[in-house]
Amino acid sequence: MTDRLYYTNARLDRFTAVVVDSTHDGRRIVLDRTAFYPTSGGQLHDLGTLGGIAIVDIIDEDERIVHCLADSIGVPVGSMVVGQIDTTRRFDHMQQHTGQHLLSGVLTDEFGWPTLSVHFGDDSNTVDVACDDFDPTVLAAIEHRANALVVQNRRVTISFEDGAEATELRKPSDREGELRIVTIDGIDRSACGGTHVDSTGEIGVILLRRAERTKGNTRIEFVCGHRAVTRARLDAELLTKAARTLSAAPHDLPGLVEQQLHRLTEGERERKRLSGELARYQAAAMWTARIPDSDGVRRIVVSTAGAVKESESLAQHLAALGGSAVLVINPAVGGMLMATAEDTGIDAGQRLRTAVQAVGGRGGGSPRLAQGAVPDPVQLSLVLQSLGFAAP
Ligand SMILES: [Zn+2]
Repeated sequence: MTDRLYYTNARLDRFTAVVVDSTHDGRRIVLDRTAFYPTSGGQLHDLGTLGGIAIVDIIDEDERIVHCLADSIGVPVGSMVVGQIDTTRRFDHMQQHTGQHLLSGVLTDEFGWPTLSVHFGDDSNTVDVACDDFDPTVLAAIEHRANALVVQNRRVTISFEDGAEATELRKPSDREGELRIVTIDGIDRSACGGTHVDSTGEIGVILLRRAERTKGNTRIEFVCGHRAVTRARLDAELLTKAARTLSAAPHDLPGLVEQQLHRLTEGERERKRLSGELARYQAAAMWTARIPDSDGVRRIVVSTAGAVKESESLAQHLAALGGSAVLVINPAVGGMLMATAEDTGIDAGQRLRTAVQAVGGRGGGSPRLAQGAVPDPVQLSLVLQSLGFAAP
């Protein structure tokens, strides 16, 4: 059974221990004792080195803790090795974890929302609370209260108490026997195996980033300490960059973005109207320029480098002028669109389907408008021929 040194001393960053088990490749090591925290209780594992070899993972197997290394440890079972913890990462985890205890205390006691689950990530953390009608404007009030308790610098202590006798726990523990209890003076008492700071001041700033609905509850995203400052810095830089792009002050951004969005919508509407207008003029010119075939039908081919669908408006304007059949093609990809005037009696859907199916393609549509494609663009000329169109 591995002796967990971090249970009683979360500040221990260098220790010696004896290798009691190892895989053949020397990469999975069990020690008689360890200060490395394994992934458990939602908290991420530590990093660092063991015997000078980088740690890649720490696994909790209940009785023992397995240290996964980047390379063989190179010493036999029974050897003494030195473990060195990455203290920056560990302290960050201590700040996030203790911050969560404090936040859960505030959310339960002052807002009436008990914590349902917690997630700690490399980037940010979340706490899910039992609240089905969360008002986002309350986020600032929760944040303010949590930070007020941080600066009161309340003591955080660890004690080992009998499960049957431990009182005032935030959540009753279903574990039997001795419990490890983390107490934030006057705020929270929770059974927890994680690593924590010694006083709330060490948590640093608590930043609530956002809240969102999740399965009838509310998920609050938060970051603590150095991570909160880093995050706020990144946010400020993003705002500054966005503001600079629009030559505005950051606080003018929301109004300005809304204004720009409105302009964009208006512009897009106007663009659509004008392109419709243009299609009408183009259609008139093309229709006039095209001499009817012997059956009196003007057969017009429009070649495009874009999606054939984008020329649908032009094709329909041409068909609307009467006595005409239009085929839009994209010679590069083999796509096509066909529109016919009703007075020609040509069924676009049926004719196009037959023509493209003959070369292994697919297509179809209504008697007036149809779309299709051929597997190989070189087959387009065959389709044009069978539909009675001359190559463009
Ligand atoms: Zn904890």
